[in-house]
Amino acid sequence: MAYIIGYPITSILFYIHKSAHTQEVLSIQLMASATVAVLLLLNFRNKINNINLALYTVLTVTLFHAYTLWKIPHQTYERETFNIILVLLFTLLVVRWNFRYALISALVPLLLLPAAIYLHNPASFTRFLGEGGLFMIGAYLLFPYVCRMRYEKDKREFYLRYTLQKQNEALEKQKTIAEQATRAKSEFLSMMSHEIRTPLNGIVGVVHLMMQDGKKNNLQSDLIQTLKFSSDHLMAVVNDILDFNKINSNHVQLDPIPFDVRALLTSLEKTFIPKAAEKSLELIFKIDATIPSQIVGDKVRLNQILTNLIHNAIKFTEKGSVKMVTKVIGKDEKKVRLHFMVIDTGIGIPYDQQPTIFESFTQATLATHRQYGGTGLGLAITKELLHLFGSEIQLFSEVGKGSSFTFSIDFPFLEEVPQQEPVVLPETTDTYSFARVLVVDDNPINLLVATNFLKRRNIQFDTAVNGLEAVDKFKANSYHLILMDLRMPEMDGYEATRIIREVNRTIPVVALTASAFSVEKERAMSSGFTAYLTKPFLPKDFYDTILPRLSREPLDSASPIEVE
Ligand code: ADP
Repeated sequence: MAYIIGYPITSILFYIHKSAHTQEVLSIQLMASATVAVLLLLNFRNKINNINLALYTVLTVTLFHAYTLWKIPHQTYERETFNIILVLLFTLLVVRWNFRYALISALVPLLLLPAAIYLHNPASFTRFLGEGGLFMIGAYLLFPYVCRMRYEKDKREFYLRYTLQKQNEALEKQKTIAEQATRAKSEFLSMMSHEIRTPLNGIVGVVHLMMQDGKKNNLQSDLIQTLKFSSDHLMAVVNDILDFNKINSNHVQLDPIPFDVRALLTSLEKTFIPKAAEKSLELIFKIDATIPSQIVGDKVRLNQILTNLIHNAIKFTEKGSVKMVTKVIGKDEKKVRLHFMVIDTGIGIPYDQQPTIFESFTQATLATHRQYGGTGLGLAITKELLHLFGSEIQLFSEVGKGSSFTFSIDFPFLEEVPQQEPVVLPETTDTYSFARVLVVDDNPINLLVATNFLKRRNIQFDTAVNGLEAVDKFKANSYHLILMDLRMPEMDGYEATRIIREVNRTIPVVALTASAFSVEKERAMSSGFTAYLTKPFLPKDFYDTILPRLSREPLDSASPIEVE
């Protein structure tokens, strides 16, 4: 376009100097422009590419210009050479030619233009050389090399950009894969959470119901006590494994309460006696008599740490003993420093493996995994939990001789023994017999647990196994409260609650969920639920959530509901 418009404009100079050849020059230049316009058209129609268009344009203009120089006398060549150098600079800016193209576009004018002037008049040629011609020849000679430099530089930049782009694409792909993996992990955890917590709720609930049943002999009571201990522990472990990411990202907090560490250790001993006996191992629990009876700390987490270590000690020991030693190694008015040691006479851990076994999913050797199984998570969780207690785990181990895991924790302690929390919930008076609750759950065991918890308080109830049935029962009867599972076939708890809320905005609807994720809780709380109970729930959590929400308001269409 610059050539088409710019070239004929130069005839103005002939006009200004009142040259007799102005018209002739203009017509030659217009012809040149017309030819370039045709080339442009061909380019628009994709007949010639951009690079060729630029080359043909330069050659066309050169030809016409050479003709002008040959036929038309010039008073001076200064303007001519100056213009040509400007054109060269312009070309350099606009086009990206390789050396071959640049050489052609330089050689043709380099031969044609001086030749035209010489043909016009040999004397003009000498004048031309003096009036910038030499400079112009130099510029044409340099042109291909400058073009090549630019071309190479562009090529390098292009290559760089191309590689960067490729790298970006690869990174983008990796990012997508990582995001998918994270999503898959989260979905897996969510599924695991649901799949494990649902049956666990049944176990925990039934154990608590069994504990409240009075007709038991001593052995049965002992067995149920052990079962309760194990199920509570299993519940804690499941929670921890599911929240392993949380532990890693410091989202887990300790929950300190006063407890009797001796009772905890005795319970642990009872739990592990059968396992040790199975392998004919001596299980020795040494408990310092000077330990205060009530220390303040997170009992569940300490229990989890010790369980992990004793479990491993028994697992990796074939003969000899497993010792759990607890000692007081420091004490002031407020705090006691307890030192815990779990010592076994087992297979031991190779020295070079000792630092790595505390990493998640790591086991000492492949052979260990093949022989003993396991996830490699236990010690990682133990180490992280001990960090929360402000402690570090120490390992001393020799292959073939055994291992000892030790750590110390400072616990505040209480001088006075507080009132022991009753383990068995008292059978309370009939204060809630007015209440009517609809329990909605597709899992029969969970339904059994929840309804039995209600029965203990003489609360009337009705059941539904999915959202659809719940909505029907809600419409046909009146309730003080609804316990609603979230995930159910036919219609889930969210949808059922949405429909119920259209009719009744005030009835308390408590979500029951096995999901460990706070997202589900947030979703439930923003979907019309009044409260939220995570499975597995202990009777205390259950009653604390339900009882305050049971109002004594009389119900409209109070049709009596049978207590099953
Ligand atoms: P898991 O026991 O599920 O494999 P852990 O994190 O508890 O995972 O243990 C990691 C590894 O450390 C084990 O696989 C085992 O190789 C080693 N280890 C842990 N405790 C002991 C022990 N008491 N004796 C020998 N090796 C042990």
